[in-house]
Amino acid sequence: MHRILRINLTERQAAIEPLPATYRSLGGRGLTARIISDEVPPTCDPLGTQNKLVFAAGLCAGTSVPNSGRLSVGAKSPLTGTIKESNAGGSVAQKIARLGFRAVIVEGAAKEPVTVKIDRDGIRFESAAALAGRGNYQVIELLKNECGPGVGIVSIGQAGEMRLKAAAISVTTPDFHVRVAARGGLGALMGAKGLKALVLDDAGCEAVPVADPERLKVAVQAFTRGVLSHPLIGGLKAFGTPILVNMMDAMGTIVTKNYSQGRFAGAEQISGEHMAEIVAQRPNAKPSHACMRGCVIQCSNIYTDPAGELVVAGIEYETVALMGSNCLIDDLDAIAAMNRACNDFGLDTMDVGGALAVAMEAGLLAWGDAAAAVQLVAEIGAGSERGRMIGNGVKHTGEALGVTRIPHVKGQCLSGYDPRGLKGTGVTYATATMGADHTCGNALPSPANPGYDPAASSGQAPVSQFLQRYFAAVDSLGICLFAMVPPLDMPELQQHLVACVAAIVGEELGSDYLLELGGAVVKVEKAFNDAAGFTSADDRLPDFFSTEALPETGQIFDVATDELDSVHAD
Ligand code: SF4
Repeated sequence: MHRILRINLTERQAAIEPLPATYRSLGGRGLTARIISDEVPPTCDPLGTQNKLVFAAGLCAGTSVPNSGRLSVGAKSPLTGTIKESNAGGSVAQKIARLGFRAVIVEGAAKEPVTVKIDRDGIRFESAAALAGRGNYQVIELLKNECGPGVGIVSIGQAGEMRLKAAAISVTTPDFHVRVAARGGLGALMGAKGLKALVLDDAGCEAVPVADPERLKVAVQAFTRGVLSHPLIGGLKAFGTPILVNMMDAMGTIVTKNYSQGRFAGAEQISGEHMAEIVAQRPNAKPSHACMRGCVIQCSNIYTDPAGELVVAGIEYETVALMGSNCLIDDLDAIAAMNRACNDFGLDTMDVGGALAVAMEAGLLAWGDAAAAVQLVAEIGAGSERGRMIGNGVKHTGEALGVTRIPHVKGQCLSGYDPRGLKGTGVTYATATMGADHTCGNALPSPANPGYDPAASSGQAPVSQFLQRYFAAVDSLGICLFAMVPPLDMPELQQHLVACVAAIVGEELGSDYLLELGGAVVKVEKAFNDAAGFTSADDRLPDFFSTEALPETGQIFDVATDELDSVHAD
């Protein structure tokens, strides 16, 4: 796993390089950040040939560490103009690791759409003419039939080919469901490069080398046992991430009607609990599903229609909140249909959901009109003018329609947690190096931390700073964040994980390893953004969060700007 594969699409050439010594301790987001920082001019056109697309496996990928197969995709973002890392589950990161690579760097641009196939015998460039214009589901089916059931596929749909700013990158699971590196418009960059798909086949490859297998075995057992003992895990298995719907609604922090309310009258209808009831009644549906090998949590689900036909696997809280409560839509089947369309066209459901809500605020369609919303999402794939507008995300749509209340930071739509009641998350939205992104540090209350008040007006920056560094480390190891929530409440699990990493790399690591790693990653990202022209003025939430109180709780976002600026001060 000490090699980099560099693919030049302009020249149709590939080169295998040793991993530079300075990159040896890096994986996932840490590695994409360093490569982008070292090789991409910060002020370049994000869709130009100077930008590069980096696919990196985490440091733990391909080992027995549970939930460690997240694939990091890095670039300068076409959506935000900042540095970006977007990650997804699936089987591809584990295959990159087994093929002996830490990262695949894609440079240049192909004149015609191309598919790149990677296996232990080499790298092949093939015309993607037969795949061009097709959605991810067809592309995956065709490539699976052609290349066999053991491959992993990275692909874009029509949105990426159209270079829409909310375009995402699809990654297959071992059973060929779709997971998505959704945020930051990285699918648009893949489209600009003319790369329709990457196919990775690790057949015949050796296992990923581990320096101390016995130590890893002991540490993995302790880590896994601890994660599975946390009360959150049972809820995630039973109800998936939509278990958060009722929780956020009860707190008055579920995003509702374009972030104008904090409770949704239809919350029960779109809750994880109701979804579980639907799933229990439908043929071929499943309440839990693993998006990667080695997942011990299985928070995903398989959602089918009443006849048992697959709609989507799986539905996540963010999709439910942005396309449901935020649009006043209380119909899970309609949300699932939009989710499927977004997966097929290759789109971020959050930015599309945010765009639908601002379009409703502008009067383009009525609040809660599920049929009109489904139709508008279908138009994105067809490339209509309205569809392209929505597919360019919430900021573009809001500006095009003259809406002043646009819920974005640095061009990226906020997630499903209202920052007025969850102010630590609000600090993360404002100051994260890649635009509003809850996965950078979502500060939710926990029974294990009763002293933390998520609605307090001060003291949120240290919480956000800690979480931003912690999850930057998690993303660098390639571990799913749901496996890393229990260690926040049970710090001994962090040390079991550090022991896992130490066993893999064969070095002793200090007890501060995670925060030191994550802090260094955030610093590299921040320096890139500074060089790209971003300032503290960009680290702010839209004004309306400070001037419009949530009607149910009276809360506004009132964390001082000095406190926001302190996140990156040391
Ligand atoms: S917990 Fe969920 S997101 Fe994480 S690896 Fe498992 S199925 Fe994937």
